[in-house]
Amino acid sequence: MNQSSPYESAKELLEEASDRLRIEDWIREALMMTHRELHVTFPIEMDDGSIKIFNGYRVQHNHMRGPFKGGIRYHWDVNLDEVRALATWMTIKCAVVDIPLGGGKGGVVCNPKDMSEKELERMTRGFVRRIAPVIGSSIDIPAPDVYTNAKVMRWIVEEYNKCFGKKDLAVVTGKPLDMGGSEGREEATALGGLYVLKQVIKEGFVKGVDTLKDKRVVVQGFGNVGGIFARLAFEEGAKVIAVSDSKGAIVNNEGLDIPKVIQHKKKNGCVGDCSGSTNATNEQILELDCDILVPAALENAITTENVRMIKAGMVLELGNGSVSANADKRLSKKGIIVIPDVLANAGGVTVSYFEWKQNLAKKHWSKEEVYNKLERIMKRNTSLVLDTAKKNKVTVRLGAYIVAVSRIAEKAKIELKSSHYQCFEKLL
Ligand code: GLU
Repeated sequence: MNQSSPYESAKELLEEASDRLRIEDWIREALMMTHRELHVTFPIEMDDGSIKIFNGYRVQHNHMRGPFKGGIRYHWDVNLDEVRALATWMTIKCAVVDIPLGGGKGGVVCNPKDMSEKELERMTRGFVRRIAPVIGSSIDIPAPDVYTNAKVMRWIVEEYNKCFGKKDLAVVTGKPLDMGGSEGREEATALGGLYVLKQVIKEGFVKGVDTLKDKRVVVQGFGNVGGIFARLAFEEGAKVIAVSDSKGAIVNNEGLDIPKVIQHKKKNGCVGDCSGSTNATNEQILELDCDILVPAALENAITTENVRMIKAGMVLELGNGSVSANADKRLSKKGIIVIPDVLANAGGVTVSYFEWKQNLAKKHWSKEEVYNKLERIMKRNTSLVLDTAKKNKVTVRLGAYIVAVSRIAEKAKIELKSSHYQCFEKLL
């Protein structure tokens, strides 16, 4: 498959947005590089008594708008280029939804599916001991990402506080509720995506679509993001005709019974062979004729290799980097609107920001309060991004970058002179 470097693509978009905005050179240069990159190695004892050396990364891209923020992923394909891209997208994402945070990301090269819970815990704690000097509630705040969850966040908080003899809950977001987690964090990415989608439809950006009801939806990825999105779309009356996970896909042209698929996945560990559906491959479902295609897994699901086969009316990119930069341009030429990751999946980090705020203020917001605030932020910024794309006659992705870069540049100029920034710099 043609897999363009996600980091190079992110930088190209930053260049394009910076050109259009004519921002000062020093801000452009800062955005084109990362602030700090940490590569760590650490030995962990496996259950069979052997010792394995793990590699992990934490990349801090930019903190002009606030502390670095972004998840930690556990995956066998984790590499520095990918983590740099993911950290850069976090800077853009936080600025797109206008929350006062910067961008960072981390990852450990491992296969979490082949590891026991005890091994995962030891690996997490080992990684935290290595990155502890550069994270913290006012410096860099990790969160869940691919194959990490609230349980992993619990281990991170415990280990970080052990390292420094502190009791700081705000060092990480996406925690369990009993440890200062926020209501609504688990479904935040999918729910944020739904709010974005509704706004895009309301503003008439999807030809012939004015409601989600009966619309044919395909979701690639059935984890915390894709699985929950499929359920929410089903509850809105959409026909979810195909879903997939890393092991395979299922299709029913009349619409899948999503609650049933969720039960099946819980019991069998995969969506494949669910009754009332036909098995298919991950690649096949991307090419189905549908109204809304939702890639919600890893990078480069839609590239120049398969873009000409895409027959969807629109693409809601819930997975980070799921549509390559070249494929994005081709889709838009074909008249297929792509709502980019930095907007579509920003609901996750938005509720992370709520969690961080609640922790710092020692408060707990109700689910209703979280949902209302999330809806307002997602809808308002979706409108702004769509408007910017329209006015500049560019893709929605470039529209989102223009909104983000202009917000970052504005803040950078003020912050450089302020004592807050100087003081924050000292902390780092
Ligand atoms: N990993 C999520 C993302 O890529 C959430 C990050 C966060 O909450 O900090 O947006």
